[in-house]
Amino acid sequence: MPLYAWESEELLRLYTTLNQVELLTSSREDHLKWLACPSGKFSVSSLYNLLMPKNYMMVPKLLWNNMAPPKVQFLSWLTWKGRLKTAGFLNRIGVLNQNTFVNCVFCGQAVETVNHVLLWCPAVWKVWACLMNWWGVLWVIPDNVNGLLQWWRGYKWRKFENIIWKAIPMAVMWSLWNTRNDVVFNGKMFQLNELCELIKVRIALWVKSQSKEPPYSVQDIIINLQ
Ligand SMILES: [Zn+2]
Repeated sequence: MPLYAWESEELLRLYTTLNQVELLTSSREDHLKWLACPSGKFSVSSLYNLLMPKNYMMVPKLLWNNMAPPKVQFLSWLTWKGRLKTAGFLNRIGVLNQNTFVNCVFCGQAVETVNHVLLWCPAVWKVWACLMNWWGVLWVIPDNVNGLLQWWRGYKWRKFENIIWKAIPMAVMWSLWNTRNDVVFNGKMFQLNELCELIKVRIALWVKSQSKEPPYSVQDIIINLQ
């Protein structure tokens, strides 16, 4: 039975589509393909990448791609992984004596955890606020270090500003942890203004020493940033 004109067109379209399909051949074995990996083969790392939120995967780029010295980057990475040896952590794994003071050395009000001693502590919050004020940014303190770093990674500035911006969380976390150690082991006092200045100088020196053509002096970066 002859086809109508519109049916002929449909038939032609069907043939065209079928011709584009890879034909099954008896010589080639059918197999499963893992689409999350370009090679088509399954790997644990590709599954891990697939399951983790994209923002989480961006954090290591911030941690390792900045002007901070390697030892500072490493401490930041430990912090992000929750592996900082805080009193709360050591107490939990049974390393400390029962009577050891495990509260935060800055405020004494809560058990010393990574998120408390680097973010939530009222004394520490003032340090972050000082840095935000220096930068002219308004913010709400994130829930945890991972949230902080994800938020930080999301902010985009011009090239030179971005170099300084990416060094700030590393410098703050490094300086806070060293100050905490000074208080615990050397009996020093926590001085807010002194610490804020030290963090700014630290950042400016890192940027000056590693950036190829820093257009500003250390003094400019600290005082005339905006
Ligand atoms: Zn505290």
